[in-house]
Amino acid sequence: MRHFIIDCDTAEDDIMSLFMLIKNGISVEAVTIVEGNISYEQEINNALWALEFVGKDIKVYPGSDRPLVKSFRSVEEVHGKGGIGDVLVKPSRLKPESKKAVDAIVELADRFAGELEFLAISPLTNLALAYLKDKSIVDKIKKVWVMGGTVYGRGNITPVAEYNIWVDPDAAKIVFNAGFDITMVPWDVIVNYPINDELWEKIKQMKTKMAEFYIQIYTHYREYSMKNEKIGGTPHPDLITTAIAIDRSVIKRSERQTVDIENCDCLTRGMTVIDYLNLWKRPPNAEVVYEINFEKFLSMLFDLLSWF
Ligand code: CA
Repeated sequence: MRHFIIDCDTAEDDIMSLFMLIKNGISVEAVTIVEGNISYEQEINNALWALEFVGKDIKVYPGSDRPLVKSFRSVEEVHGKGGIGDVLVKPSRLKPESKKAVDAIVELADRFAGELEFLAISPLTNLALAYLKDKSIVDKIKKVWVMGGTVYGRGNITPVAEYNIWVDPDAAKIVFNAGFDITMVPWDVIVNYPINDELWEKIKQMKTKMAEFYIQIYTHYREYSMKNEKIGGTPHPDLITTAIAIDRSVIKRSERQTVDIENCDCLTRGMTVIDYLNLWKRPPNAEVVYEINFEKFLSMLFDLLSWF
């Protein structure tokens, strides 16, 4: 049994990532919520509402609602006001925990020392705070999976910065330099693997409850991405990262490299700087993913969509 914490700024791709973990038999020990895509309260509501949809009582811990140092902005234009389009959903039964995410992370790292995996499909504030509270989590957390950054300097919130890292580059700098075993899935890699028109139509024809749910929550994001980001379909940054975390064979090509984070108040704030020629002579701190086994990802997506 694998044990995961999934850290979310809960929009559509976070929700399907949570579902994919559950569907694949992962023991999800906690959903932790961090600032990001939409209003903090709605991110919590979305996580609880999504858990009600699949009938799972997994604990949801509110965490940090802001970056460590600077300010940030949410991106309702990308995901809609509700993160799943403009509709604002509410859970009918489930409630968030009163314990904070930072404490839950430290406690779960103790309880599942050497086994716990942390799936960060979100800004890295919660993990950085947990590390600052108890540095021993570096040795207790077996693996950190990060959706974030770019390898070719093609961003989505500034010309060179990817959103998750840009929101809290100070936290990202702490996490990448802490010594965690990190696999990083960059934005400008996943844009090459969208759900195109043909696949989108195929999903529409499935008529399962999950496929209908998928179409409903992704329509806003899909339209935004195709129109504004020149992507040939729906991008799946979080879900591809999750698929990789579940099954490494979703990675087609990766390299162990040194990654550092630009956190200056400057044009390149939030950029992931990758020492691709090992000029710094520092030991690699991350496995950077460069190519995806898209067929394998699709088989996992369609398996999820045919769940019920
Ligand atoms: Ca996310």
